[in-house]
Amino acid sequence: MEKTEEELKKIKNEVLNCKNCSLYKERGENRFYPVIGEGNHRAKIMFVGEAPGLNEAKTGRPFCGAAGKILDELLESAEIKREEVYITNILKDRPPGNRDPQPEEIKACAPYLERQIEIIKPKIICPLGRYSMKFMMEKFELDDRLAEISKIHGKLFRVNKFLHNFTVIPFYHPAVATYNPSMKEILKEDFKVLKTLLEGLSEEEKRRRKEWESEKREMEDPFF
Ligand code: URA
Repeated sequence: MEKTEEELKKIKNEVLNCKNCSLYKERGENRFYPVIGEGNHRAKIMFVGEAPGLNEAKTGRPFCGAAGKILDELLESAEIKREEVYITNILKDRPPGNRDPQPEEIKACAPYLERQIEIIKPKIICPLGRYSMKFMMEKFELDDRLAEISKIHGKLFRVNKFLHNFTVIPFYHPAVATYNPSMKEILKEDFKVLKTLLEGLSEEEKRRRKEWESEKREMEDPFF
């Protein structure tokens, strides 16, 4: 097994046995699954929601209910395949009655997400909703630019952490479009930037590969 898969599997096993907050009881009592994350382990884009809802806890899959349908629609509108991206949440277990995540639950569960980010190394991290947005902005020392989600949704925040450069783009939580359909157009407009960024990343990769190949040729050519 490759190192990335091995490390992600380790997280899965740790979450299955995790008792760092009381949400594991809810999981046991209801025969729910933890929702660890799903998608491409080498994804350029990582979406981070808040916590699993009922459908997610019943299946162990992130964004597979009503909010997931909207997310699928948004991805399709940006011409991005769900299999290309990685989707996870801050909390891996469902808070009872879909209540908001509590600070102590976020504190207990965040190290799993932090490791997922370190392993997958996405170039674009998209927090979905205000809890996830706040968490990311604080985590990546963007606190001074933190504002209401209505002010900073769809905006790009560059992060340069050690050798991992990436962009954080907060989006409204897709669930808002389930009770306010006009929000879907705002979300679609925001999602357009993802396609543009992905195209820019593949151009950059092509350029680097060309540079690397010509440097390699120079090194191999004794008459150069
Ligand atoms: N809402 C979230 O934040 N995450 C899910 O996985 C589903 C709904």
